[in-house]
Amino acid sequence: MEPTSGHASHINLAKINQKILSHKKLQLNIAIKGLNCSRPQTLVKASDIFVDAYKEGRKYLLETEAKTICMEYGIPVTRFKLAKTWKEAVKFAEEIGYPVVLKIVSPDIIHKSDVGGVIINIKTAEDVQKAYEQILENVKRHKTEAKIVGVLVQEMAPSSTEIIVGVTKDPQFGPAIMFGLGGIFVEVLKDVTFRIAPITENEAREMITEVKAYPLLRGYRNLPPADIDAIVKILLNTSRLVTEHQEIKELDLNPIMVYERGAKTVDARIILE
Ligand code: ADP
Ligand code: MG
Repeated sequence: MEPTSGHASHINLAKINQKILSHKKLQLNIAIKGLNCSRPQTLVKASDIFVDAYKEGRKYLLETEAKTICMEYGIPVTRFKLAKTWKEAVKFAEEIGYPVVLKIVSPDIIHKSDVGGVIINIKTAEDVQKAYEQILENVKRHKTEAKIVGVLVQEMAPSSTEIIVGVTKDPQFGPAIMFGLGGIFVEVLKDVTFRIAPITENEAREMITEVKAYPLLRGYRNLPPADIDAIVKILLNTSRLVTEHQEIKELDLNPIMVYERGAKTVDARIILE
């Protein structure tokens, strides 16, 4: 017999509602799973990363964390995945596509190549395994007590014109954005320019054209002309990032490869207050 009382139909309605709810939940779970598969890093917010670092007593963010924050702010980075075993590293290298770069991830190592923690241009699974073991060995030798989080597998960015975008904090004016071309231009010639954040698009364009090495960005010999709009976008997004997050004391995108179309940040460092 069909239930006819108001009470019974009320229960039925509740059941139906529950069904709809659980179906919605299922759909939501599927959607979240889908997001997790394709873009796991973008679900983590900059503020969560800062909180976790502070909780662990760290002021230097791991490359994975710094690059995840860059992604949140539309700053292009090389694709990456954190491996905990050499087998996982091989799997990730195959997913990312050869050639790849392997790098040590440790809260105790700021300058990774100084301790033999970076191996570039790895082209086969066998070499991934070798590089993985080599990096761990190098780090153990140079910095025995370093805590190892894992080994980062990342896409190898083809070499091109290199630029550097940095941020330092002025005690009076707050974060200042720095721009220059990579290598000797910044390190030897100190050919850099600064603006106090937040910067406008015009200021970003001025920064790019006022460094002495600017003609190189317009193309020179075997260097193709660089995508100026891509650099402008990186400068503006960096400005927005450090304006919205005063927790950042220093930021260093070094180097960023700039192509005829687009750009890619190869290494990102963030130091917190
Ligand atoms: P660190 O500055 O901590 O020593 P980096 O991540 O900058 O380490 O790596 C050192 C150098 O290796 C970079 O300056 C760059 O020349 C090269 N390199 C690192 N990662 C990549 C990459 N994904 N693609 C191409 N070159 C890379
Ligand atoms: Mg570097």
